[in-house]
Amino acid sequence: MLPFVYTALPMRVIFGSGTLVHLNRELAALDRHRALVLSTPAQEQQANAIADQLGRSSVGIFAGAVMHTPVEVTERALQKVAKTGADALVSVGGGSTIGLGKALSLRTSLPQIVVPTTYAGSEVTPILGQTVGGRKTTVRDPNLLPKVVLYDVDLTLTLPGPLSITSGINAIAHAAEALYAINANPVVSAIAEIGIASLARALPRIREMPADRSARYDALLGAWTCGICLGSVDMALHHKLCHTLGGAFDLPHSETHTALLPYTLAYNSGSSPVAIQRIASALGAEDAPRGLFELVGRLGAPRALKDIGMPREGIRLASELAVASPYPNPARVTQDRVHHLLERAWEGLPPDLKEYRGFNDA
Ligand code: NAD
Repeated sequence: MLPFVYTALPMRVIFGSGTLVHLNRELAALDRHRALVLSTPAQEQQANAIADQLGRSSVGIFAGAVMHTPVEVTERALQKVAKTGADALVSVGGGSTIGLGKALSLRTSLPQIVVPTTYAGSEVTPILGQTVGGRKTTVRDPNLLPKVVLYDVDLTLTLPGPLSITSGINAIAHAAEALYAINANPVVSAIAEIGIASLARALPRIREMPADRSARYDALLGAWTCGICLGSVDMALHHKLCHTLGGAFDLPHSETHTALLPYTLAYNSGSSPVAIQRIASALGAEDAPRGLFELVGRLGAPRALKDIGMPREGIRLASELAVASPYPNPARVTQDRVHHLLERAWEGLPPDLKEYRGFNDA
């Protein structure tokens, strides 16, 4: 009988196809009438279309969001907020745009409505990672949560195929680590299984046909549920390594998650056999690390860190950084073991199950 604490995260979620039409109604329901629309430069056109849809309830757009939420960008966006007298933020995009919305909300208390277009899950977490002078730090505050999340399957149809795959595996990583989190609980674990299964079903169909609306529905539903896991319980070695590699070598976010996850699951397979088995069942595989490694291969995503820009000489530094301030993890985290894991992941070799099964020494 495992005792647990469960903190529900308050938010309003609207989910479906064509749901963007409800944006004006949702903004009015918050009694806000001067929204600033945020996006990356790549989604500027979409931001403009949303500002047009809002008409007089929009004060314009800021299309300067970039990955890892650098404070210089937040400061430029703050000037736009002040100049326009915005009273709400509408973020349309993935984790980068949503991160900017959270950074602005943290500084201004403006309410956010988020329209997510990737599977990263930031829209449902009270977490903000921001970069100051090249160093990324994390803030956790319930006030960072958007007031409304408007999931519109139609807006994900344009997410490029390869990014859809890696973004989907990024989401699976949140749910997988939730299943062996130190503060895991039965509710979040059940949600995690739903999320993994939904994405495992959807991603092969999206690879075949990126415009398959029903597959996109399943993937977005999986992204939401996996995001809930990320926002509700503590993440472990996998997220620590991704944050470390992303920060130290500027590796792409979802690709790093995708290449590493089979190895980090293998690392924890000896100390969390039940959680790892639940991940396998949700994936529809016999074995979670191998099943995921094979799935990533079938989906055509990069499986080796060397193929996404990681320098081989970086393995030592990364393993030092990862053990310097580790996240709580089921198997003990040592520099030698992490070094071994990163060597295999750098080459993209199949995860070394036999060796990792011995890591049951938390
Ligand atoms: P992203 O937001 O950087 O998007 C990647 C690119 O795809 C961008 O150019 C974007 O404009 C484009 N794009 C997004 N959706 C599109 C669509 N539907 N059609 C066409 N193009 C589209 O990538 P991401 O992986 O979603 O986010 C990564 C960032 O989010 C990182 O900085 C990461 O740290 C952060 N993140 C934070 C949390 C959290 O809880 N705080 C969770 C996950 C990720």
